[in-house]
Amino acid sequence: MSPLTHLLASWIVAAKTTDNLRDRRLVTLAGVAPDLDGLGIVLDIARGALSNGNFYYYPQYHHYVTHGLPAAVVCSVLLAVPARRHWRVLGLAFLTFHLHLLCDLVGSRGPDQGDIWPIFYFSPLSRHPMWFWRHQWPLDGWQNRVITLALFVWALKLAVQMGDSVVGVINHRCDRVFVDVLRKWRARLTGANAESRQQPRGPAVHD
Ligand SMILES: [Zn+2]
Repeated sequence: MSPLTHLLASWIVAAKTTDNLRDRRLVTLAGVAPDLDGLGIVLDIARGALSNGNFYYYPQYHHYVTHGLPAAVVCSVLLAVPARRHWRVLGLAFLTFHLHLLCDLVGSRGPDQGDIWPIFYFSPLSRHPMWFWRHQWPLDGWQNRVITLALFVWALKLAVQMGDSVVGVINHRCDRVFVDVLRKWRARLTGANAESRQQPRGPAVHD
């Protein structure tokens, strides 16, 4: 799935399971970390611009270097070190990392019809076992759009309730501004609804 979908999904898990902003950010980052091996696309684009080279690094390394158990262990340990609750973040980071793998397993097909992305669970140490799902839907399929939209709405709802949002993964100050705006919008909407409910009703219309 797309990095945005992974970000929203892992933030929601983090928001539901952590009690401080630092740990929330760390658990969320674990859910997007597997896509680090997709950064080869930057080199491919640069190569293409400079020498008309074909894509090489992205298809070669994406879903291989950091989409397996070894990277899950390393990533979880690294993220648990600066956490407030080390063991809890270790376990939750391991969980969101694997949620990412599961999401990729079900919804990352492409770009061509037959391009099913497998998960090499012990990669890059071994290509065995290789897991794939033959019903894997396209990366840009409607399923992913529906899931992303649902996660987005859920994340906004949680942000209004809890007072912090997925923006906090990037910057806490921007997050405060973002949540303030969300809460003002909600106050306006709920205020407008309350006002409309209090409006005196007109006389009943009879045929
Ligand atoms: Zn991925």
